[in-house]
Parts: sequence; structure tokens; C-alpha cells
Amino acid sequence: MISIEEMRQSVKGEILIGVPMSEHTSFKIGGNADFVIKPIDKDDAIATARYFQKKNQPFIVLGKGSNVLVSDYGLRLPVVFFEEALSKYEINGRNVYAEAGVDLQRLSVATFKHNLSGMEMLAGIPGSLGGALLMNAGAYGQEIYDTLNWVEIVGGGEKRKLKKKEIKIKYRETEFKDEVLIAAEFSLNKLDDKSYEFQKKVREENLTKRRESQPLSMPNAGCIFKNVIIDDEIVSAGRLIDQCGLKGLKVGQAMVSEKHANFIVNLGKAKADDVVKLIRTIKAKVKAQHQVSLALEIKMMGFEDLNIQNLTG
Ligand SMILES: Cc1cc2nc3c(=O)[nH]c(=O)nc-3n(C[C@H](O)[C@H](O)[C@H](O)COP(=O)(O)OP(=O)(O)OC[C@H]3O[C@@H](n4cnc5c(N)ncnc54)[C@H](O)[C@@H]3O)c2cc1C
Repeated sequence: MISIEEMRQSVKGEILIGVPMSEHTSFKIGGNADFVIKPIDKDDAIATARYFQKKNQPFIVLGKGSNVLVSDYGLRLPVVFFEEALSKYEINGRNVYAEAGVDLQRLSVATFKHNLSGMEMLAGIPGSLGGALLMNAGAYGQEIYDTLNWVEIVGGGEKRKLKKKEIKIKYRETEFKDEVLIAAEFSLNKLDDKSYEFQKKVREENLTKRRESQPLSMPNAGCIFKNVIIDDEIVSAGRLIDQCGLKGLKVGQAMVSEKHANFIVNLGKAKADDVVKLIRTIKAKVKAQHQVSLALEIKMMGFEDLNIQNLTG
């Protein structure tokens, strides 16, 4: 049982009751979180993480909610938002320090303006740095871990710094589970004028490609499934879904995007339940036609008591 009175003694930030997650996810889907904590600064963010971890109280950290599906029944676990508390970044020469709540697009643009290469291709990813580090976000040949020096975390109630070689990183996945990511430092590469102009052109082309191929005008959560490796080759999950003829397939107000088959869009009033049904259908059709089990890229939240385990495999 969580006592708000007790929590207030360790946590300085605002505590909000009954917050609609549909307002905090890019999918615009999800019931109410029972309570949300917004730490006020870095010390408070660390104190909040330590408070829950020391009590062995599970909790959820949400960044920009751009890669999650929250259940229609909402979230019973406390939810912590770091956007305001962890919003600083500093660029010193080639070194970039950034806190987990920093907007990834902002960081990407700022570092590139400083003639630094390593994050410019991440410009179209609409998440926070914390979410990007948790998901090992990447695009067009760059991944967030490529240039990382260290990441500061709170795990088991203790603050620690992990060097890149101490972190297990996989495609769109890291080993982090209960750890809270607080900040990170990167060493980017200095671009000379000629390579800056070249990278600028490639980056603009990639952003145009993104606008043309992704349903950015409708609420979505990015790619639903991870790409798959077949015979040592990366095969696009979107292509497999498209080959099953599933573009445009609807359940309620959730639809497989006509533009990109690995995106599900919310046509207005989609329920998480509609999305789950669509995910089940996509997985079954792809399995039947291609003998491939698609694995989810998005994180499911608030489904612990519902029988959806077979969605994650
Ligand atoms: C239109 C669109 C395009 C996208 N394109 C790409 C793309 O090209 N490449 C790509 O990799 N992704 C892409 N994504 C997915 C998404 O933007 C990234 O995964 C992003 O990095 C998630 O960040 P977030 O802050 O929104 O994380 P959230 O969705 O809020 O959370 C994702 C996970 O990270 C955890 N988390 C968040 N912050 C922390 C923290 N500080 N400490 C511990 N755990 C934390 C959450 O608990 C959750 O498990 C796209 C999404 C959309 C909507």
C-alpha cells in the first residue's frame, strides 16, 4: 500500500491523482494513472527513484510516452515523469552531457548545430533521452549508444555510473529493467565544413523520407514490432505485415497504417483493447504466412493482470 503522506517526506515534487494517460502518450490511448509524481530537480528525481526502490515498490518511469501502449484500465503503479526535473544539457567541445528528460529531437538539433556528428540522424525520433537509452533508439545508421561514454542510473536504491562497455545493448533493447536512467555523457565527432554540408543533406533527405513513409498526422506509437533477422539478414517487420495484405485493417478505431504497415494509428477514439486485438491478428497472420513470430517493440503498461503474455514473444 502506498501512503502519499509518507511519500511526501522523501519526495519534493508534485503528486497528482487520477491522471489520464491518453494525454501523456503519443498513441492518445490509456486509462487513468492512480497517481503521478513529477520531481522538481535532479536531486529530487534521484530521491524519488531511491524511495521506491528501497521500499521494493514497483513503479513506472514514463518519458514522452512515444513507444508505449497503456491499458484502458490505466495504471495502478505510481508513475514518475522526469521531463521537468531532468531537462538540462551541456555541450563542451565534443562532449555532451544530457539528462534523461531532454527531448531527443532537441538534443539532436543542438549537437548538429555545434558541428557535432553522432546524433543528427535521430532528429525524427519523438522521445526523451531516457526513453531512447532504455529502448536503444536508432535511425538511419545511428544508435543512441554509438557515442555514449557513460550513463548515470539509480538501481537497487543506489546511484551509479555505468560505462558503455558495462551495458548490454541489443537491437531496440537494453538489459535495464528496474533501473532509472538519470543522465548520460556522449563524445561526438567534430565535422569539418564539407562533411557538415554532406551530413546536413543526408539528414534532410531522411527527415523527408520519414514524413513521406510514416503516418505522422495520426496518433501512433512508432513501430509496433521489431524487425526480424532471417538467415543473418534484417527483414523489415513492416514488409512482412504488408505482404500479408494487412494495411488498412481495422479493429474499432485502431487501424494498420496505410502508409507504413508496422504502424498502428488511432483514428480518434481507439481503445488499447482494439490495438491488442489488431496486434494479435497481425502476429497470427504473419506467423501463418511467413512462419515468423513478431516480437513487440512497444512497451505494454498496465496489462499485468490481463492474459496477454503471448503478445510479447
Ligand atoms: C512517429 C514515431 C517515430 C518513431 N521513430 C523511431 C525511430 O526511428 N527509431 C527508434 O528507435 N524509435 C522510434 N520511435 C519510438 C520512440 O520514439 C523511441 O523509442 C523513444 O526513444 C522513446 O522515448 P520516450 O521518452 O517516448 O519513452 P517512453 O515511450 O515514455 O518509454 C519507453 C520505455 O522507456 C522507459 N523509460 C523512459 N524513460 C526512462 C528513464 N529515464 N529511466 C528508465 N526507463 C525509462 C519507459 O518505462 C518505457 O519502458 C518512434 C515513435 C514514433 C511515435
